[in-house]
Amino acid sequence: MSACLRIASPGTRLARQFAHGQQHARQQHSLILRPHWPSSPAPSACFRARTPTPVFAHLFSTSSPRPYAIAPTGSSTVNTPASNQPLDYAAIEQKWLKRWKEDKIASSSLSAADQHANTASTAKEKEKFYVLSMFPYPSGILHMGHVRVYAINDAMARSRRMMGYDVINPMGWDAFGLPAENAAIERSIHPNEWTIKNIAVMKSQMEKILADFDWDRELRTCSPDYYRWTQYLFLKLHEAGLAYQKEAVVNWDPVDETVLANEQVDAEGKSWRSGAVVEKRKLRQWFFKITEYAEDLLQDLDRLHHWPERVKQMQRNWIGKSRGAEFDFTVPLASSSLTSDAQGGGKIQVFTSRPDTIYGVQFLAVSTEHPILDTIPEDHRQQLEEFKESLKRVVSSDQEAGPEGVPTGLFAKHPFLPDAKIPVYAVNYVVSDYGTGAVMGVPGHDERDNVFAKSQGMEIKYVVAPSSSSSTSTAGDQRSQPTGGALTAKGILTGDNGEFSNMSSEDAAAAVIKRASELGFGREKTSYRIRDWLLSRQRYWGAPIPMIHCHGCGPVPVPAEDLPVVLPMDVSFTGRGGSPLQQIESWVNCSCPKCGSAAKRDTDTMDTFVDSSWYFFRYLDPQNTLLPFSSAKATAGMPVDVYIGGVEHAILHLLYSRFLSKFAWKTGLYGKGAAVEDKEGNDPGRGEPFKVLVTQGMVQGRTFKDPVTGAFLKPAEVDLTDPNKPIQISTGLAPAVSWEKMSKSKFNGVDPEDMIASHGADATRLHVLYKAPPSEELEWDEQSIVGMQRFLGKVWKIVGMTQGETETGTRTASFEELQASMGAMNKDERELWRQVNSTVMELTTSFKSTYAFNTSIAFLIKLTNHISSVTPTVASSSVDSQQQQQQVVKKQKKGKSQVEVSPELYQYSVQSLVKMLSPLAPAFGEECWETLTTTVPGASPLHQSSSSVFSQQWPAYDTEAIKADKVVCAIQINGKSRFNVEFDMAELPLADKDSMAAQEQFLKDLIYKHERAEKWLKDENGQIKPVKKMIVVKGAKIVSFVL
Ligand SMILES: [Zn+2]
Repeated sequence: MSACLRIASPGTRLARQFAHGQQHARQQHSLILRPHWPSSPAPSACFRARTPTPVFAHLFSTSSPRPYAIAPTGSSTVNTPASNQPLDYAAIEQKWLKRWKEDKIASSSLSAADQHANTASTAKEKEKFYVLSMFPYPSGILHMGHVRVYAINDAMARSRRMMGYDVINPMGWDAFGLPAENAAIERSIHPNEWTIKNIAVMKSQMEKILADFDWDRELRTCSPDYYRWTQYLFLKLHEAGLAYQKEAVVNWDPVDETVLANEQVDAEGKSWRSGAVVEKRKLRQWFFKITEYAEDLLQDLDRLHHWPERVKQMQRNWIGKSRGAEFDFTVPLASSSLTSDAQGGGKIQVFTSRPDTIYGVQFLAVSTEHPILDTIPEDHRQQLEEFKESLKRVVSSDQEAGPEGVPTGLFAKHPFLPDAKIPVYAVNYVVSDYGTGAVMGVPGHDERDNVFAKSQGMEIKYVVAPSSSSSTSTAGDQRSQPTGGALTAKGILTGDNGEFSNMSSEDAAAAVIKRASELGFGREKTSYRIRDWLLSRQRYWGAPIPMIHCHGCGPVPVPAEDLPVVLPMDVSFTGRGGSPLQQIESWVNCSCPKCGSAAKRDTDTMDTFVDSSWYFFRYLDPQNTLLPFSSAKATAGMPVDVYIGGVEHAILHLLYSRFLSKFAWKTGLYGKGAAVEDKEGNDPGRGEPFKVLVTQGMVQGRTFKDPVTGAFLKPAEVDLTDPNKPIQISTGLAPAVSWEKMSKSKFNGVDPEDMIASHGADATRLHVLYKAPPSEELEWDEQSIVGMQRFLGKVWKIVGMTQGETETGTRTASFEELQASMGAMNKDERELWRQVNSTVMELTTSFKSTYAFNTSIAFLIKLTNHISSVTPTVASSSVDSQQQQQQVVKKQKKGKSQVEVSPELYQYSVQSLVKMLSPLAPAFGEECWETLTTTVPGASPLHQSSSSVFSQQWPAYDTEAIKADKVVCAIQINGKSRFNVEFDMAELPLADKDSMAAQEQFLKDLIYKHERAEKWLKDENGQIKPVKKMIVVKGAKIVSFVL
């Protein structure tokens, strides 16, 4: 694609769409050429190589006297002579995209899955397979990361369909959110219009990468048909007491008088738009009580056996359960306090996970909102106010503020040390809505307390010594002489701990809690780090919160029958003066559903995480107008069998989805109930929505930087004549090269459309899948894509060597027939049969459980190479066989191949290869399959039309067939055979033009281990003699050393 189309703004995107349209129109005339078969019945030869068609004519040197039918996207009519033209990937893709649309061959149909839910009595019910990619935000640009996810997703969906599953493979749009609103402010385009345009663009891009989604299930979260049910679920949560209002802090732009999202506050804490220093302000906001589910969300992580451990650990940390104690510290009224009505001070309640360190308490730290601060002495008041003011500045999230605080003039009593006066500080690192809003400061044994105490000039007190078992004696000695840092490990209490002295930390913790409860100032307590989900946003482009505020009744839910509360479309966007919703009086003013008096709508909208926390339910029942989803359909379709998405969603999205799904399960919106699920045991159960989680790695681009300034270089600024030796054109220096996440600012991105236009979607997909396993980072390297094209070319050549069953009147042998004839196979047939079976086994495992598509492709390449090395036997009775026999003779003369296998086995092998390749390279796979199975006009009507490869059955395998024949490899030293080594054929690593290294290393390891190597390959000291040359011949049947 030309560079002038490399522009990303929506306007030019449209132009680009148009350009694509023209291209498609041209492609209608770019023809797929295929042989025109004679109308007379085909000869009865059991095998004859198909004469190459012009499409792959460049792969064959022979030309054919046959006339050719030209088939513009499928139908055959015109004859034309052969011409040399390369495999036209674009034409093949267009042809099959059109065919799939017409026939709906490949996609899972909605009705099939519906049947699944409704007709449980059907005799042979297909097992469902629900594969899901995290739905995208419709930015309007598909990037390589998307290509990667959808290639993984598509390979899974297509292969499962061939394996006989009822596949659910939906796609939709996470369509609410801030960028649409920013576009409205910056470019005066309505968020809705912007979103719809972007969806259309992305949908066509998804088509170009041949992703076969079930568009019958498509949903967009910004549509009232969808957010009506998001609002419904909000009301359900409200009804259950899990949605409530309280005050919370927001980012406030004092110039534009509006609330800002975190993303709209820059690194210096200023507004993205007005440049004003952003303040913190308190507003009454909506929360979901996710903390109510904290224990369930934590415990049930153990049921998720197919989630990456890393993700589960991140969720555990986020939930942050800690067991410990709650203590009450008494604060006597400060003598200088002027608050006359204060009676004897108050209490400060703290939570600690280390009750064993209570003797180490040196101060108490409270949040700046703690009620005890109302009682502080007057002379400390101003300092506190100034401190609070300084905290209003919003600090950007990437620079975490260190612990800061001010003394309050208050002192607490230590429950075990009556003489100690514990100073109370107001600090920035304790927040008011977390736990008790106060912590006990133990600088000797807590990192943050330690930093803070030092900043206040305190001397650090240690009360727990590291236990000798946890460290070596010397290290222990050093650690018992602390140099001022925090000793956070548990250990043995020192002699300064009163009745708890010399106890272990564990024993002391229990004893301290016991004594504290006896004395009435403490108790055992479990605490969670997770906080309730703040879901209200003071923004426009989201689902309105379905609540009405009445003077008399307070907040009143909108009655379910009045849903959706439709987001008004007629709004103006200035980015000033708060959310546009507040300004639409006709919308805001309404009457109270309870008492009928004048009331106002809630003008907040929901966090888009609410939209995305239940969409996987809606896909199962997208047209339901009575409920968000029917219980039967959700019960049949859930859980999602494989969920694919970025690790950046490891915490919030997955946690919120688990919460909503568990809520739906607990309240009976779907599910078979705990008793049934626990008995079945296959699925995680208990409302867990995702059975397998695949977190795909990033796609990284080759990145060039100026070696002096470190500035990112554009591709045009780098001379890549020698790709291995890039040169910065302006300086002549070698730029710094690295692999980094593709990004506009780094000039290292590639446009998937360009890749597809240059290399074809099939090769691009294969390349993406081959370069790295799904969960690892992928270093995009366009140059090596030719390797995949070479592979496809080889497959195409093999397909050309094979003929369709009906053409000759013979039929393809079935798996069972070949299995039964295994004993009668010759050595070469046995080896081909073994390789086919082992490849099927590898790919079946890979497609069903490991998703190691990179090794799958390696196995397919290996099988392709093997098939290329054998020749099907030619039957002498064949009329056309003369030419073929000549070819074989020619080949043999060239020494290329003397390996012959039966045509039935050969054809079966090629068909299996094509079937397994198809989920990875779908259009190419279809083209191959059609070529393999297209019938001759006039042949049996049963075979008149070839069907889609995706309606074929996934090949079977026989573990007996896989048991390898031993390869006996002769070792020649300076031209003379000296000894033999044996190995399993299956163990021999792949070797291709680019790399013989792995195979050579495997053989070397084997050979040097052999006892005869002592004599022939090693010197008298047992050292390996230098090798001038090592040559591996004939599939490693001979290894020749020149010493
Ligand atoms: Zn009312």
